[in-house]
Amino acid sequence: MITVLTGAGISTESGIPDYRGAAGLWRADPDYQKLVTIDYYLADPDIRRRSWEFRRASPAWSAEPNPAHLALAASQQTGEVDRLITQNVDGLHQKAGSGEVLELHGNMFGVVCVGCAARSTLREALDRIDAGEADPACLECGGILKTTTVMFGEALDHDIVTEAVRAARQSEVFVAVGTSLQVQPAASLAAMAAGAGARLVIVNADPTPYDDLAAEVIRDPIGVAVPRLLAELTT
Ligand code: ZN
Repeated sequence: MITVLTGAGISTESGIPDYRGAAGLWRADPDYQKLVTIDYYLADPDIRRRSWEFRRASPAWSAEPNPAHLALAASQQTGEVDRLITQNVDGLHQKAGSGEVLELHGNMFGVVCVGCAARSTLREALDRIDAGEADPACLECGGILKTTTVMFGEALDHDIVTEAVRAARQSEVFVAVGTSLQVQPAASLAAMAAGAGARLVIVNADPTPYDDLAAEVIRDPIGVAVPRLLAELTT
């Protein structure tokens, strides 16, 4: 079976910058880290207000899937790619038509109450802000709302990580696309797959710590490389 792991690099060709990259927002805005760190977020209504506006300004609202997302979705629909794991929160795999996506870091378009776990959407929260609420609270219990992304200081979803580990261990081919493989657990998924005997293929513009473990390393632009690679793997 083929398992694919994707990171920020697959979405840069769709116009979504890699926030960890050299020109990323982390360096542009010293407060960015606070906006995505759970302790600051829960403690400070002003951080929450700015965090909502940060999500509102995200290029993900209007971004379209590129040929790499589309090729992956097509290969998933035919069953040639068995499991798709992503570090991205932009929803572009789903927009491309992918079925099940294991979102390690959650999804920015969902909203959850930290008090009662009630679910709603980012659109609803922004609409309430537009209607005059500075920091919309849970309509069920009055608790603090946040997006369904995994913030710094929060644990990853245990079930999703378990499923991703299982997919990595069972895969015959493990393809890492557009990820620097420097953030856990994504990095160890590639190592686990290779350790369990999978053929590891890395598609990334820059070197990763796992290039030496890979059977193949591809530096070509992802929108070209991924459709070509999938065609090779599935024929
Ligand atoms: Zn609630």
